[in-house]
Amino acid sequence: MRILLLELLEDPGKSLEMRVRPDLPSLRKEGADVPLLWEEDVRITARGAGGKKVSLSIEGAPVLQASCDRCLRPAPVRIPLDETEEVDLSRTEEERLADLDETPYLHGAELDVEEWITVLLHLNAPMKVLCREDCRGICPICGADLADGPCGCEMAPRDPRMAAALDVFTAAQEKPQN
Ligand SMILES: [Zn+2]
Ligand SMILES: [Zn+2]
Repeated sequence: MRILLLELLEDPGKSLEMRVRPDLPSLRKEGADVPLLWEEDVRITARGAGGKKVSLSIEGAPVLQASCDRCLRPAPVRIPLDETEEVDLSRTEEERLADLDETPYLHGAELDVEEWITVLLHLNAPMKVLCREDCRGICPICGADLADGPCGCEMAPRDPRMAAALDVFTAAQEKPQN
């Protein structure tokens, strides 16, 4: 959805306040689409800040339905959105692009809500997701959850190339193979 900010330029001090449910079912992360859960509306406020400047604020907290980086179990993580930024609408799209401006979500005097939120989610999403701090992951050989104790596999494969292949194989499997 797009919000037209034009009226804020003509009337500084005026503000637009809205609650929206973003049309953003997933976030692309490391080549995969990770589902996003929007339990509550996001609050967006846009306020004229003098001249052609507009102050944008957002509040929300969607849940990223991620999986644990070590054991692949579900590990949902809430990503807080709590930002205020000032944008300058006097610049044309070409000027912003030439400057490598980091506001690709502005199109003329329109704010693209989903594009803005996507940028913020990427900034705020954790680099690593674990189901819990001390997750021990799964055995690369038999796929057993190491939280349940040692599985008895030989943990030092003789050939390191084989170990790497097993890692890839295990990561690609949802169910352990025996
Ligand atoms: Zn885990
Ligand atoms: Zn094992």
